[in-house]
Amino acid sequence: MSTTGEKPGVGLYTCTKCGETVYLDDSTDRLPPCPKCHNTEYTP
Ligand SMILES: [Zn+2]
Repeated sequence: MSTTGEKPGVGLYTCTKCGETVYLDDSTDRLPPCPKCHNTEYTP
């Protein structure tokens, strides 16, 4: 589980609430809140 504000590294993260996916393309990127439902938890 990854949370908004963390820097979990490059990869695709799936919102635990609505299933929206967010792709981080840089290891220094922080996870944003879900663009759809503003959930803050993702699964890698
Ligand atoms: Zn969501």
